[in-house]
Amino acid sequence: MFDAILIDKTEEGQRVVLTSLETSALPEGDVLVDVAFSTLNYKDALALTGAAPVVRRFPMVPGIDFAGIVAESSHPDLRPGDPVVLNGWGVGETHWGGLAGQARVRGDWLVKLPDGISLTQSMAIGTAGYTAMLCVLALQRHGITPTSGEIVVTGAAGGVGSIALTLLAARGYTVAAVTGRPSEEAYLRSLGAASIVDRAELTGTPRPLGRERWAGAVDVAGSTVLANVISAMRYRGVVAACGLAAGMDLPTSVAPFILRGVTLAGIDSVMCPLSERVAAWQALADELDLHKLDAITTEIPLGQVIATAPEFLQGKVRGRIVVPVRPE
Ligand code: NAP
Repeated sequence: MFDAILIDKTEEGQRVVLTSLETSALPEGDVLVDVAFSTLNYKDALALTGAAPVVRRFPMVPGIDFAGIVAESSHPDLRPGDPVVLNGWGVGETHWGGLAGQARVRGDWLVKLPDGISLTQSMAIGTAGYTAMLCVLALQRHGITPTSGEIVVTGAAGGVGSIALTLLAARGYTVAAVTGRPSEEAYLRSLGAASIVDRAELTGTPRPLGRERWAGAVDVAGSTVLANVISAMRYRGVVAACGLAAGMDLPTSVAPFILRGVTLAGIDSVMCPLSERVAAWQALADELDLHKLDAITTEIPLGQVIATAPEFLQGKVRGRIVVPVRPE
């Protein structure tokens, strides 16, 4: 038996409980993992609160991320004892996820943890950090270097934003951190922000073309915030867009694209091919200052997960949350 969070649908709506499950209850898969740590992402908060239809099958164990040790495997590349990490692939949405003591999944979904990152650190990074690295790699792929000009990161005090800011600063970029929480200025500067931009500057109706400010952007917000970022990009600027914290819409025009050659690079972590995941995790192992990771991370027990989820959607959570499930 192991502890698990379970989301079920009842006639009254969604019911979320902390319960006990047997290994035999787990879905099919060629690898059984003893989950050591999971985490809470924005998407998990949507699933746990039912604020958006993230969960596609009921009952569902939520948790789009987990890290643990392979317990049983019939996958050719994985052996019992291997430390592994999983991000996305519909886990916690269509397949039981990481907020449970065990998970049975397809071995093709698992990345072997690179040397230098512990199980707990991999969850402090989680989908948020791995997505942040996908954004950084996209800027690099599109030719944005530290000499191109300033990079803007929106939602900078959140999970993706905090790690994107840290990674970009470590690569030598000058980073402007957008936040709706001015009280987080000292935190954002400690992660490497060169300047702080009040989110309110980016929430008005966007002009087709604004003053040219940034060479690159990592955007977690979408909606009006992203539209304002796009119209403030410098000539041939690149925006890595990965989130919708401000909304799904995008009230922009083609002007920045056809007059300034701006590139909008979409980032999806969920179905990202394995080779790119492995490259992103290796880059995280090589580049991320793990001491800074400690400053970004808060731990909460499994029993506190359900109560913490609404705080995410109210923008009250800073950085990353790690959930010890069965720590080593
Ligand atoms: P998070 O920790 O809750 O951070 C989101 C941050 O966005 C908040 O901390 C806040 O930062 C800012 N924010 C909140 N409400 C806002 C609003 N109305 N307008 C503008 N900014 C707002 O969440 P996360 O885990 O970093 O995820 C961020 C976004 O990325 C989410 O939409 C998530 O779904 C998405 N995401 C996508 C992928 C992918 O594969 N594409 C992967 C991971 C996450 P400040 O307080 O600093 O303003």
